[in-house]
Amino acid sequence: MPHSVDFNNVAIVLCQPQIPQNIGGVARAMANMGLSRLIVVDPKNLDMEKIYPMATMGARHLIESMEVVDDLQTALKEFNYVVGTTARMGSHRKAITLENMAVKLISLSKENKVALVFGREDRGLSTEDVRLCHQLVNIRTAGFSSLNLAQAVLIVCYEVFKATQDTPKENIPRLANRYDLDAMYEQLSDLLVRVNFINPENPEHWMDNVRRFFSRHPLTARDAKIVRGICRQVDWYTERRFSKSESEQD
Ligand code: SAH
Repeated sequence: MPHSVDFNNVAIVLCQPQIPQNIGGVARAMANMGLSRLIVVDPKNLDMEKIYPMATMGARHLIESMEVVDDLQTALKEFNYVVGTTARMGSHRKAITLENMAVKLISLSKENKVALVFGREDRGLSTEDVRLCHQLVNIRTAGFSSLNLAQAVLIVCYEVFKATQDTPKENIPRLANRYDLDAMYEQLSDLLVRVNFINPENPEHWMDNVRRFFSRHPLTARDAKIVRGICRQVDWYTERRFSKSESEQD
């Protein structure tokens, strides 16, 4: 029997949507394709009189159960795999095609909670938002690349809905969630600043390379624990060495 994406483990996350009608349109697109978990981060306007008509009766339940969260990092805490969607590409915005992502989600969604993140209507996802994503996805267009938010959600959901595979090639274990990863990156950044591996003036810029490196092969919860253990040990060792050489000088 062909395998498909497990929609129970997939959520749509809207980052600071500006236009309430789009939230309704997104809910409708999700209901059309069988997705049900909608998370909205810091919306500019939650006027239900504008949201409900666009959602129509068919997606009303999605608006009723929609989660509203203050910031993206909090919204993503529990997710093991985060996919950002972007109309814009660049040297730091390497995106894969939606078709490839959809197939990848078949194995990923078996054991992992997946978030599909969409940006603001005017500015898309910021560099800080992109840092929280394991992978970026782009919907190919003929020229003008910026789709309406709800239409972009519809295309992404449709592609994910259609994706099937006879036998998934990879067996992807449960990955570290964003909460574990954020804690790991914070610890790693502290340590790398202290040992002068990264510039204390602009650690986030340097950490981007480290994040990219670690995101190439998403880490399991155990991997993240090992990296944190290494940081702790290096911390302990350097502190001991440092205080020893100080006391030798005394
Ligand atoms: N002007 C913005 C586009 C915002 S459109 C920009 O330049 O980034 C709102 C959101 O819809 C985007 O943040 C993205 O999540 C999604 N979107 C729009 N067009 C897309 C495309 N071609 N590929 C992938 N996502 C797209």
